[in-house]
Amino acid sequence: AKLELIRNFCIIAHIDHGKSTLADRLLELTGTVAKRDLQEQLLDGMDLERERGITIKSHPVRMEYAAGDGNTYELNLIDTPGHVDFAYEVSRSLGACEGALLLIDATQGVQAQTVANVNLAFKQNLKVIPVINKIDLPAANLELCYEQMEEVLALPREEALCVSGKTGEGVKELLEAVVSRIPHPELLDIPGTAALIFDSNYDTYRGVVNYVRVKNGTFRRGTRIRLFNNGIESEVKEVGFFSPEMRAADELTAGSVGYLLPNLKSPSDTKMGDTITDVKDPCPEPLPGFKEVRPMVFSGIYPIDTADYEQLKASMGKLQLNDAAFLYQAETSAALGFGFRCGFLGLLHMEIIQERLRREYNCDIIATYPSVIYNVYMKSGEMIPVDNPVFLPDPSGIERIEEPIINCHIMIPSEYIGDVMNLVMSKRGICTNTVSVDARHVIITAEIPMHEILIDFHDKLKSMTRGYGSMDYEPAGYRADKLVKLDILVNGEPVDAFSSIVHTDMAYGRGRQLAERLKDVIPPQMFQIAIQAAVGGKVIARESIRAMRKDVLAKCYGGDITRKRKLLEKQKEGKKRMKQIGQVNIPQEAFVAVLKAT
Ligand code: GDP
Ligand code: MG
Repeated sequence: AKLELIRNFCIIAHIDHGKSTLADRLLELTGTVAKRDLQEQLLDGMDLERERGITIKSHPVRMEYAAGDGNTYELNLIDTPGHVDFAYEVSRSLGACEGALLLIDATQGVQAQTVANVNLAFKQNLKVIPVINKIDLPAANLELCYEQMEEVLALPREEALCVSGKTGEGVKELLEAVVSRIPHPELLDIPGTAALIFDSNYDTYRGVVNYVRVKNGTFRRGTRIRLFNNGIESEVKEVGFFSPEMRAADELTAGSVGYLLPNLKSPSDTKMGDTITDVKDPCPEPLPGFKEVRPMVFSGIYPIDTADYEQLKASMGKLQLNDAAFLYQAETSAALGFGFRCGFLGLLHMEIIQERLRREYNCDIIATYPSVIYNVYMKSGEMIPVDNPVFLPDPSGIERIEEPIINCHIMIPSEYIGDVMNLVMSKRGICTNTVSVDARHVIITAEIPMHEILIDFHDKLKSMTRGYGSMDYEPAGYRADKLVKLDILVNGEPVDAFSSIVHTDMAYGRGRQLAERLKDVIPPQMFQIAIQAAVGGKVIARESIRAMRKDVLAKCYGGDITRKRKLLEKQKEGKKRMKQIGQVNIPQEAFVAVLKAT
């Protein structure tokens, strides 16, 4: 299409404010998908996404819209995830757009991630259209939304559109606003052909699929291309767009969004944020790229049954093809054997990967306690980054340990200020600022060690504020503190998978709690089991599990063979989900219990 007739935009919002539902309405109203074919939340492809109501990958979709001005426009919509863990995906998608629809749930108002997303959009110079959604709900409070828009986002209330993604009210007007307010794409000042890879996918049948925004020139089947990042050359096998299924096209022209199939075997050859150019008509420099994604949270993932190692490895490889932010490398654990050290963007990202391994790839896995990266400064002057407590050097050689700190913005109704401040303090945080957003809401800014928010901070915040609290964070450097390694010993053997690095003041409480939890979840065995928590070789807590002779067959009197067999099978299955550590069988739940104990 002509540049003047293209609009590229995305929808940004706090999670659950209705992005996917609104996207469905747009698809329907533009006739991209007939109503009868519309499953709910069409763009959320993975089962897990639907279940959890989050969008993990961005799916660009092209719509044709006959506008009130008599022209037919090409609208490219990119759905974006709303969770902090996926902020990198949001910013990547924004790079392919000229405008953004900012959704605000009329019953919830502005939330922490709304603010974070708007700031990202402004940074990328996007035209932001504020959209107040869910106006069909009786609890909708438009006045509050207007007030917050002006106060927090500095967006005039006159610019807001009111819609319901559910009933479709106001959606037609919204499409008109997209056409009239969002600027059309423009060519770059530099010569040559260039497209930005803003996402990639790996399709079993087609191989690497790059989602691209063409900035200059035209790409066709057969175009000889070069990737800027690594200089690799290839030939375009196919170009096309999503509508919402993949549809091959003759060409992808400047200003458009679509997909491109390079003739590459290895998905790792194309990098998100990279520039693709035409070998015959190269552009002189790469497009402004994106920040390299760096994992912040690490955890070990091990097969429960060592025989499944190869299968787990293959599954991780496949997962990574669709999620470049997920990193893994082989490691071994004294307790768990051969497995992988994995890096994630945040805790939600970690949970999603683990769940996908279990569900989509059928892997029986154990995940160890998550860790951040500690900077360990040795007396020798050396600095050792440690992402696994097991590798913390001997304390005698350590001069100091620094841990990552985050700057956290927490938005809550004013009545919860006291509770939330206490929560922040209990997590070794410092409140640095409090500003009121409107008559009823405040944003608390706090510096908190990242390690402390890994497990349950977000859950606690949610329940404490009846779901109204929301948070967003950015890294804020490193800071030294009194940190020690807390070991857990089962029958005298340290179980490295249970180790964690904790603050000295918290070591005793956590050690005791862990020992108690483990006592509850490790079933009695033929001998007594001692569970100890220790810091620097000194035992600080101890529990024991009494011996029990577990003979399931004793329960069956008489000779009911089938019943016996069933029981034996059941017992076998029970064993399968246990991990043998030394002589002790530790069930999978124990590893989860350790995770949840804080
Ligand atoms: P996302 O996380 O931003 O993609 O939000 P979803 O589109 O998944 O919507 C979250 C929830 O809000 C779902 O239960 C939707 O059915 C509901 N929802 C979305 N839009 C509306 C709306 O306009 N009105 C009402 N009543 N509910 C809506
Ligand atoms: Mg969604």
